[in-house]
Amino acid sequence: MIFSLTTLGTASALPTVDRFPSAHVLNVHERLFLIDCGEGCQMQLRRYGFSFLKINEIFISHVHGDHVFGIYGLLSTMSLLGRSADLFIYAPADFGPVLDSLIQQFGTQFKYKIVHIAVSGRAPEVIFETKSSEVLSFPLNHRTGCYGYLFREKMPRRNIHKYLIEKHSLTLAEIARLKDGEDIAREDGELLKSDVITYLPYKPRSFAYCSDTAPFKKLREYVEGVDLLYHESTFLQETEKVAALTMHSTAGQAAQLALEAGVGKLVIGHFSSRYKNSSLYENEAREIFPETYAAREGARFEIPLSGHGS
Ligand SMILES: [Zn+2]
Ligand SMILES: [Zn+2]
Repeated sequence: MIFSLTTLGTASALPTVDRFPSAHVLNVHERLFLIDCGEGCQMQLRRYGFSFLKINEIFISHVHGDHVFGIYGLLSTMSLLGRSADLFIYAPADFGPVLDSLIQQFGTQFKYKIVHIAVSGRAPEVIFETKSSEVLSFPLNHRTGCYGYLFREKMPRRNIHKYLIEKHSLTLAEIARLKDGEDIAREDGELLKSDVITYLPYKPRSFAYCSDTAPFKKLREYVEGVDLLYHESTFLQETEKVAALTMHSTAGQAAQLALEAGVGKLVIGHFSSRYKNSSLYENEAREIFPETYAAREGARFEIPLSGHGS
């Protein structure tokens, strides 16, 4: 069961010859979520072998060009490829006029429906779910309405230790109840405890996406304990004033958040064109949070399944 992030674009507002603007693909159990859609996103999807037609949900953090300019080309190409399935775009309300103008100008022949779900709210809320995973939105702190997204697997159903089925002569009904987490008191006084007889087959995995944002206190709660955190780091400590002015973060600030929130691994991106070498960001962040990785185009960050939970 795959759970992996591929970074397609690592630039901030100004693209460079080797950095595309923000775009990411999260693969959750072979379902592809596109997160932000900067210019050139469709070329990057092609380059790294992602099928456009496997994307049914797009999550846009905010309506700044470096996060949405790629949507025009991508939606047109989806139509040319014969898409008929509905496409769902989760984005703040001000994405509505962008989509309307796109459809008016270029989309009258589209054979598929585009549904814009306006993301709002001041606290995390579930905006999408399947049987095994869910997505929550949460507010960020930027110059325009901006949202982060938390993708996580739901708690899996517990498995039963096979040797205990025989030992306790469990009936099918008892097995089902124990797997659902219920303890069972038998007539002879024996208590069958679910957490002894069953186990979690795997620990649910999680990924949080935070771009663009200035640091703020509540963010720590929103991303607490995720396995993988993507956080923008447009600037370095030496340009912290510019970061504050433009409501962005430095590599050090991203690392500080990762440390305080106790995340597993930090990926940083959204780099300013003034710094050509992304290891400057990585080095600054690793001073605070050693498990930091500077994103690069086409890099893949896998969250492996971790053994049996309890
Ligand atoms: Zn941006
Ligand atoms: Zn922005």
